[in-house]
Amino acid sequence: MAGKKVQDAQEAKRLLLVKFGGTSMGSPTAQQQAAKIISDQAQLWDNVVVVISAMSGVTNSLIACADAALQRREDQYSTIITELQTRHFEAIHALAPREMQADLCAEIDSQLATLKAFCDSIQVMGEVTARGMDAISCLGERMNARIFSACLQQAGLRSQPVDATELIVTDDNFQNARPLLDETCQKVNNLLPPLLEDGIVPVVTGFIAGTPQGIPTTLGRGGSDYSASLLAECLDASEVWNCTDVDGVMTADPSIVPDARVIPQLAYDEMSEMAYFGAKVLHPKTIQPIVAKNIPMRVMNTFNPQHPGTRITKHSSALRGKLTCVTGIKNLSLFTIEGRGMLGVPGIAARTFGAVATQGASVLMISQSSSEQSIAFVVPSDMERKVQASLQHDLSVELERADINGIQIQSDVVIITVIGSGMRKTPGISARVFNAVAKEKINVIAIAQGSSEYSISLVVTSQDAKLAIQEIHREVIINGN
Ligand code: ADP
Ligand code: ASP
Ligand code: MG
Repeated sequence: MAGKKVQDAQEAKRLLLVKFGGTSMGSPTAQQQAAKIISDQAQLWDNVVVVISAMSGVTNSLIACADAALQRREDQYSTIITELQTRHFEAIHALAPREMQADLCAEIDSQLATLKAFCDSIQVMGEVTARGMDAISCLGERMNARIFSACLQQAGLRSQPVDATELIVTDDNFQNARPLLDETCQKVNNLLPPLLEDGIVPVVTGFIAGTPQGIPTTLGRGGSDYSASLLAECLDASEVWNCTDVDGVMTADPSIVPDARVIPQLAYDEMSEMAYFGAKVLHPKTIQPIVAKNIPMRVMNTFNPQHPGTRITKHSSALRGKLTCVTGIKNLSLFTIEGRGMLGVPGIAARTFGAVATQGASVLMISQSSSEQSIAFVVPSDMERKVQASLQHDLSVELERADINGIQIQSDVVIITVIGSGMRKTPGISARVFNAVAKEKINVIAIAQGSSEYSISLVVTSQDAKLAIQEIHREVIINGN
């Protein structure tokens, strides 16, 4: 029996899923670098599936087109569309086999004609729906999948672009759609294995998906990481490689902390916590699909593939008392509800968060004083006004009776989070974090500890955030480890 198992494992097709982000797709040189990774790995694995992002900046440009159309600035969106055409044509001429170039340019023109038609109608109507925004923002990945697939063909591989509108099935929560796993796996396993059996490397559009009716949706900004993990889960991939523009997941955002270091090994839950609390290197939902099947993920640099990068598995390398990283989330507002009348009155917290939930705002952090006289919570700043109105409405009786003194709002705050499974059951960690910020006389507005005991979060003003992150990184991660 055991012998049979070993034999099955050897016979099982080993599948590698590789995702390339925007910078890795951002220029002909970058795409050639990415193609080299795929042609090398195609020799080593039974099957390789590629997931790509749009070229860097293209999704932003598409959104800018819609914004310009809303402001009736046809000149602006026409200019952006011409720039998009030039950039994609240049990539085609540099990367695609000569005989494919004319057809590819015609395809780009047809996608851009769709974009122009959308913008014209937004301009006339003076509005755009979330569904309309998804129909526009999916075009970057659509254009680029064709180009990178042609680039792989030029490198001697057999390849085919695949539109994930046909593959990843979601609900109709446009712009942040939720995948329907069973439907998705069914489609993925109908569509991709026949291509793989023919020796084809599929180049799947990341970020985009479709409702059961086939209407385009997207998985939220940065969502192609999530697309890759979903496909890995459905296909039972052996590994996922997330190829980006830094050497791996680092101890802090390298644009804020220049001496941040690559973390060689991370546990799934540490990485989830990091992504949730703002480490932009992975989309917050990326880890969730690969945990159940225990699929390892490697985060690596397209431009430095010799570097081992970060390996994410169920094992952590964190030692007791050691911390892994510090992250920050910007553009947030802190609400504080205070009042003596809140003491022991049941239901105020429930009604507060009920009022927030009706607005569809996600609460990123909650902190309640032990005296029960205040509740503080943090929501994205773009929800501030709606949340304020909703609270004033739903808590009007308590406000009138002065059980609640008022609803205070501090706009433009940042949540800084220190993460590491090494902090579990280790006393003194918070003291080290707070000493680091106190040294710089930075005012900590609120504090919360993650229930997993993997993280401590503090809220500071946006002016203090950079220095606070740098100091915590120096004192707690560099000097502390
Ligand atoms: P891609 O286009 O490849 O998906 P992203 O720009 O989405 O790349 O993510 C990579 C970027 O994330 C890095 O260039 C870096 O600036 C930023 N980043 C933020 N926090 C971290 C971190 N802790 N580790 C690594 N990179 C981080
Ligand atoms: N192109 C999309 C974005 O810019 C998705 C991604 O890059 O992952 O958000
Ligand atoms: Mg990304």
